[in-house]
Amino acid sequence: MTLVPTLLSDTSKRPEIGPLAKVAIVGRGFTGIMMAIALFKAFDRPFHLVMFDPEPKIDGGEGVSQSATTLLNSRVRDLSIDPKVQDDFRQWLNTDDAWRDRLNPAAVSVEHSFVPGEIFSAYVYQRFSEALKDRTDVVVQVCPESVTAIDRHPRSGLSVFFSDQQHTRFDAVFLATGYGLRDGGEEPVALSAVRNAVVIGGGIHAVDQALRLLSSGEAAHVTLISASGFLPQSHARSAVGPVTSDQPLPGTLRGAFRFLREAANTADAEGSGWQGIMNGFRLRARDLWQGLTPEERRRFKRHVKPIYDSHRNRLPPDHYKRLHEAIASGAITVRKGKVERIATNGVLFSAPAGLEVLPADRTIDCRLRPTDIDSSLFRSVLRTGLARRDEIDLGILVDRCGRTMTAPDPFQGLFAMGPLGLGSLPDIDLVPEIVVQTHAAASALGAWIDELAETRDVARGAG
Ligand SMILES: Cc1cc2nc3c(=O)[nH]c(=O)nc-3n(C[C@H](O)[C@H](O)[C@H](O)COP(=O)(O)OP(=O)(O)OC[C@H]3O[C@@H](n4cnc5c(N)ncnc54)[C@H](O)[C@@H]3O)c2cc1C
Repeated sequence: MTLVPTLLSDTSKRPEIGPLAKVAIVGRGFTGIMMAIALFKAFDRPFHLVMFDPEPKIDGGEGVSQSATTLLNSRVRDLSIDPKVQDDFRQWLNTDDAWRDRLNPAAVSVEHSFVPGEIFSAYVYQRFSEALKDRTDVVVQVCPESVTAIDRHPRSGLSVFFSDQQHTRFDAVFLATGYGLRDGGEEPVALSAVRNAVVIGGGIHAVDQALRLLSSGEAAHVTLISASGFLPQSHARSAVGPVTSDQPLPGTLRGAFRFLREAANTADAEGSGWQGIMNGFRLRARDLWQGLTPEERRRFKRHVKPIYDSHRNRLPPDHYKRLHEAIASGAITVRKGKVERIATNGVLFSAPAGLEVLPADRTIDCRLRPTDIDSSLFRSVLRTGLARRDEIDLGILVDRCGRTMTAPDPFQGLFAMGPLGLGSLPDIDLVPEIVVQTHAAASALGAWIDELAETRDVARGAG
C-alpha cells in the first residue's frame, strides 16, 4: 500500500504532542480572551495555556473598551459570546442590577439596547473567569510580554520569541494581535472649553467623541475628518433580522452590489428599511467573497469597502439623529481627506483640492489602525512560511477556523484569528463572527491533534 510511506514522510514534518498540549495565545484583546473561553469550552483535553500581551489589563479588547463610555454599535441582542445561547448577554445583564440600571431607560427592551464598551467588557471577563473555573485540568499563565517572532521549533511545534530573545516551545499558537500594540491611547480631553476641535476618523468612535465634545461643552465646533467622506449609517429604530431573498446572488462584485442596492431601495420604498437587506447580504458575503477574482477583491478594497463599512457599522438611531442635527446647525463640519500630520495647534491634511492647514485647539485621533501585519512578529511568520499574506494585503490568509493556509506544506499549528483574517473572511472583525470562529478553531485544534496522533500510530505500526 502506498498510504503508509506517504504518512511516514509527512510524519517527519509533523509535530509530536505530549500528554499536556502547550498552547499560546498572543494578544489579550477581545479575540484573545474569546479564544481562551472557546478553548476552555471546546478543547476537551488537559492543556497549558500561556497568554502573551504587554497590556496589564484583561478586558474586552481595544475595540470594545477603547473608550469605556462609547456605545457599542451592536445591540445587546447581537453580542452574545455563547454560540449556543443567543441571548446570553441579555441574561447576564438581567442578573446584574448595577449594569442594567445604566441602560438607556428609553430603550424598547434590554435586548434592543446599545451598551457602552465597559459593560460588554465586564460580561466578557466574567464569562472568561467562569469558563476557567470549570477547567481544573488547565494551567493558565498570563505573560506580560510582547511577542517579537515565531519560528518552527527544531524538534517539533513552534518557538515563540519574546523579550531578550527568550523563547518557549508550543504545540499550537493563536495570533490575536488585532490592531497591534497600543500606543498609550488617545490624548485625554482637557477640562477647559476649547473653540475648535478636530476629530480624525469616520467611524463610530469618532462620531461618539465629536458628539461628546459638543454635549459636554468642551468644544464649540468640531471638524470631523473622514478619509473616505463616509460616516456611519443608522440602525433601524427597532432591531431587524436578516432579510434574504430566494434569488441567487450574482457572482460578480458589480452584480452583487447592484442587487444589494436594488433590494435596499425596494425595502426603503416599502417602509421596511434597508438594514434587514444588508444584514441578509452579510450572511451571503463569505460565499460571494470566495468566488471573486483577485482583481475584483482589489476593486472592493479600493472603492467599495468604505461604503460597505459605513452600512455595516451603524450608529444607534439617537446618535445618528444628533450627528445630523449637529451637521445641519454647523456645530460639526465634515471634511473628506487624509491627515498628513498632527501638530499641537492643528492638522495638515490633503483634501481633494490640495494641502490645507486646519487650526484646532484640540485634536483627537480616532482612526482605526490597520491590522498589524508589518510588525516584526508578522514578518517572521511570513519569512518562515508559517503564514502567507492575503492577496489584497488586509491580513493573513486563513480558512474559516483561522488556520493559516500554507499549502502545499501541512498545517503547522499556527492560527491567525479575528481581524487578522479580514482579507480572507468578510466581517471577521465583528463580535458574532469572532465568537463562531474561535469555537471552530478550538474544535479544529482537537481534531488536528487527534489526526497527528493517529498518523504517528500508523507510522509506528508500520515501523
Ligand atoms: C470603538 C469600537 C467599537 C466597536 N464596537 C463593536 C460592536 O459594537 N460590535 C462588534 O461586533 N464589533 C465592534 N467593534 C469591533 C471589534 O470589537 C474588534 O474588531 C475586536 O474587538 C478586535 O479585537 P482584537 O482582540 O482582535 O484586537 P485588539 O483589540 O486590537 O487587541 C489586540 C491585543 O493584542 C496585543 N498585541 C498586539 N501585538 C502584540 C504582540 N506582538 N505581542 C503580544 N501582544 C500583542 C495588544 O496589546 C492588544 O491588547 C468595535 C471596534 C471599535 C474600534
